[in-house]
Amino acid sequence: MDKRNLKSKIFTIPYDKDQAESIINRFRMLNGHLKDETIPVPEARSTRGTIWMCRLCEYRDRCYSETSKDTKWM
Ligand code: SF4
Repeated sequence: MDKRNLKSKIFTIPYDKDQAESIINRFRMLNGHLKDETIPVPEARSTRGTIWMCRLCEYRDRCYSETSKDTKWM
């Protein structure tokens, strides 16, 4: 979407069965955590490139208190 004139462009993306299954499995896993009210693996805390997400996360306090103090999580 071009913000200057609101024109959109359509891209064709070939269907990838493995990629689709991977995404669906990820949704299932995250949905399970929502239903069980458990914290998933804190992926955003694994790299400097993604840790900014934690500043905006509503689960931040709970995530930092309930996940292990492992060296792979910042
Ligand atoms: S604080 Fe939020 S965004 Fe960061 S790792 Fe935990 S759940 Fe993910």
